Amino acid sequence: MALLIPTQLFRDVSAITPEYLAGQGIRALVLDVDNTLTAHGSQEVSPAVSDWLARMKAAGIGLAIASNNFEKRVAPFAQRIGVQHVSFCCKPAPFGLARARHILGVERGALALVGDQIFTDSLGAHLYGIKMLLVRPVTRDIKMLIRARRWLEQPVLRRYFEQGGTIL
Ligand SMILES: [Mg+2]
Repeated sequence: MALLIPTQLFRDVSAITPEYLAGQGIRALVLDVDNTLTAHGSQEVSPAVSDWLARMKAAGIGLAIASNNFEKRVAPFAQRIGVQHVSFCCKPAPFGLARARHILGVERGALALVGDQIFTDSLGAHLYGIKMLLVRPVTRDIKMLIRARRWLEQPVLRRYFEQGGTIL
């Protein structure tokens, strides 16, 4: 269970502030795409996400995408937001996160993964030894497999709150 529990839960990416990151010693973020930055499969960048990305870049926070989705879905989105990317990461396996860290050039202690799923993102971050900033999914999931995982996530989130975890 401990490997699943996020470092911190946020209502969405725009709640992640440069002040929070500075307080945690985080200098770079590995970003999930689907249901973290935009709806599943969407190329759209909302004004709120666009503003947040600009704030992160202005604060000198390194950004790289690490998505389990395919190159043809991830590359155009990454280009659109001006961030380097790793596609087909196979999170929770560590190698995609390792490639993203190599791009960013920071030690693990200064790196966090921002994502929406416990069993891919949170587990992957902990297995790789970096912090996990969990966001609420952008939209309700349609895929049955992901919906089943959401149901399985509930006890993990319950434990997070029992241990004094908050939502920012
Ligand atoms: Mg996701």
